[in-house]
Amino acid sequence: MHLLDNIDANLAAECDALGLPAYRRKQMRKWLLEKRAKDWDAMSDLPKAAREALAERTPIWRAQIARHTQSPDGTEKLLLTLAGGGQIECVLLRDEVRRTLCLSTQVGCGMGCVFCASGLDGVERNLSTGEILEQVLRLQHLLTPDERLSHIVVMGMGEPLANLDALLPALDELSRPDGLGISHRRITISTVGLPKAIRRLANKDFHYRLAISLHAPNDELRNQIVPTNSKIGLAEILAAADEFFSASGRRLTFEYVLLAGLNDHPEHAHELVRLFGRRECLLNVIPYNPVEGLPYRTPSAAAQHAFRKILEDAGIPVRFRHRKGDKINAACGQLRRQTLVQLGS
Ligand code: SAH
Repeated sequence: MHLLDNIDANLAAECDALGLPAYRRKQMRKWLLEKRAKDWDAMSDLPKAAREALAERTPIWRAQIARHTQSPDGTEKLLLTLAGGGQIECVLLRDEVRRTLCLSTQVGCGMGCVFCASGLDGVERNLSTGEILEQVLRLQHLLTPDERLSHIVVMGMGEPLANLDALLPALDELSRPDGLGISHRRITISTVGLPKAIRRLANKDFHYRLAISLHAPNDELRNQIVPTNSKIGLAEILAAADEFFSASGRRLTFEYVLLAGLNDHPEHAHELVRLFGRRECLLNVIPYNPVEGLPYRTPSAAAQHAFRKILEDAGIPVRFRHRKGDKINAACGQLRRQTLVQLGS
C-alpha cells in the first residue's frame, strides 16, 4: 500500500494510530503537496516525536530514483524503479513561465504503436494512484522555490485510458484547490483512442483536456501504425471524440507523429483535412523522434513544411511540436529502453 494511493484516508489513519488531533492531517497534506516536503522530518510544525514515529512507521516514497538527467533546454527526466516492480519515466519541461510535467500510467504499454519505444515489450502492469502521484511530487522537488507547476500532460509511458481507475483519483487530487490547484484545463490526457473510456471522460462533471493520437487519416494505414486500431476503427473513435466535444465544449486535439515515407505524403494531409471536416480541432504534429533499433525516420524539413502548408491552407489549426529534451532521450520510454538494453533484457 502506497501512502499516496489515498492521501486523506491514509494520513487520517496515521493520525489515529499516533493519537494526533485531526487538524494535523491537513498540515501533513499541505506539506506533501504544496510545500514539497521531502521527508517527515521537514514538516516542522509537527511535534518532533510525531515526525520520528512517522519516519519509523510509514515511508512516503516507494520508488528509487535510478537516473536523473538534465538537458541544456531545462528539461529534466527521472527514471524511477518502482517498489512494485518495473521502471517508469517522468519528465519536467520548462518553457518560459510554463512548468509542465509529463507522467506515465503503466509499466510498458499494450497498444503496440510500431514506432514507439514504450510498447516494444508490451504492458507489464498498471500503475497505482500513488505511483502516479509520486511522479508529480518527486518532479516537484526539482523546481526552485519560485517556480510553480502549471501544466500536466499524461503522455508518458502507457495508455492512460486503459488505467483510468488509478489515473482519475490522482488527477482529481492535483486539481483540488487544497491539492496543487491545477485547473482541469491545464491537464491533458493523451490516448490512442479507446471509445468507451473517452465516453467515461465525457460523462464526468468536469473535463480534462483530451488529445487523441491519430497518426493516420484512414483505417488501412492506421491499422499498420497503431495495431490496436484494427479492433476499433477511426469512425468509432471520432464518434466518441465528438461526444467528448459536445459534453466539454473543449476543442479536440489530435496528435500526429510524422514518419518519413509512411504517413507524411501530401495525400495524407489532404485526407486529414477531409476527415476533420467541420470539427473544431487542433492538430499537433510531432516530427518522429527516432528510437534505436526501429526502422522509422524523421521526415525532411521540406516534407514537414509541405505537409504543414496543406493543412494550414485548408484552415486547420496546426502546431508542430518542437522536440524538447531529445538529448536526454525524453521521448516516451526511451530512457527505460536504453537501460533495459544495457541490462541485456
Ligand atoms: N498512449 C498514449 C500516451 C503516450 S504517448 C497515446 O498514444 O497518446 C504520447 C504521444 O507521443 C503519442 O502521440 C505518441 O504517439 C507519441 N510518441 C511516442 N513515441 C514517439 C516518438 N519516438 N517520437 C515522437 N512521438 C512519439
